[in-house]
Amino acid sequence: PPPLLDVRHLRVEFPTRHGTLRALDDVSFDIRAGEVLGVVGESGAGKSLTGAAIIGLLEPPGRIAAGEIRLEGERIDQLPPETMRRIRGRRIGAIFQDPLTSLNPLYTVGQQLVETIRTHLPLSQAQARERAIRLLQDTGIPAAEARIDHYPHQFSGGMRQRVVIALALAAEPRLIVADEPTTALDVSIQAQIIALLKRLCQDHGAAVMLVTHDMGVIAETSDRVAVMYAGRVVEIGPVADIIHRSAHPYTVGLMGSIPAMHEDRERLLQIDGAMPRLNAIPSGCAFHPRCERAVARCQRERPELADAGATRAACWLPVSVGVSGERA
Ligand code: SF4
Ligand code: MG
Repeated sequence: PPPLLDVRHLRVEFPTRHGTLRALDDVSFDIRAGEVLGVVGESGAGKSLTGAAIIGLLEPPGRIAAGEIRLEGERIDQLPPETMRRIRGRRIGAIFQDPLTSLNPLYTVGQQLVETIRTHLPLSQAQARERAIRLLQDTGIPAAEARIDHYPHQFSGGMRQRVVIALALAAEPRLIVADEPTTALDVSIQAQIIALLKRLCQDHGAAVMLVTHDMGVIAETSDRVAVMYAGRVVEIGPVADIIHRSAHPYTVGLMGSIPAMHEDRERLLQIDGAMPRLNAIPSGCAFHPRCERAVARCQRERPELADAGATRAACWLPVSVGVSGERA
């Protein structure tokens, strides 16, 4: 069978007065049924844009200029907004950083859950309400039978994100796109929410595309990881290989920033330099100005994803790991 989600050669452009900015360029990856794909990289790498393109919520004037996105084999990248709205909700659920983006302040959470459920599933009002209460219970909201009639502002940030997770799962979608789902939350509840998201998606058989800049979250949740840099996927592979046997120098640096369990989770990247701006993406390998391994070819020719030991990496000089476990 085709992968659940198949993204091929995706290009997203933003026309501006000074020319067209290419925000995503030739992005390809897939997500298999039931798996968690972590999408990681520094701010500005194109992680959120990739998620937005998949769920059909690119901010204008951003547009898909080339490539294909397929859900269960069927193209979804050029659908009319109305059709895309139906797919979102029924087949793809979305969770954003700020729970308030997904909730309407004027309606109780019950009204919103029941409406979503009834839009997508053939259930009566009473059945939908029962299902909504069960979903709230599943997400660990205490006294769900009473809380269902409360408004979003009556919930704490963490409880609100639980409501959003319930909403995203309401119509039993096959895929959840979660963009920094815990970044806005208190550090003490981030791990709980991530564990909850993972467990619920497993229970409901949903795959997850988890966009985050937090390597700790990736390490704890993902089956596979795609690393993005300057609008491209530069490495992709199973999570253990990305962490311990990464081949792309950028990933190697990124993984140096995974805090151990006892360390401060706030510790950030330790790669010198910054992600390039979209209007100044370096030639060849976009990472070359920051790369210790760069050679002349890296400035001239752009590497494509290719087998690099345990992972696939876009690099002319992938880092290899020897039998001793030392990187070369
Ligand atoms: Fe570094 Fe060259 Fe590999 Fe780019 S292609 S990551 S510059 S070694
Ligand atoms: Mg983002």
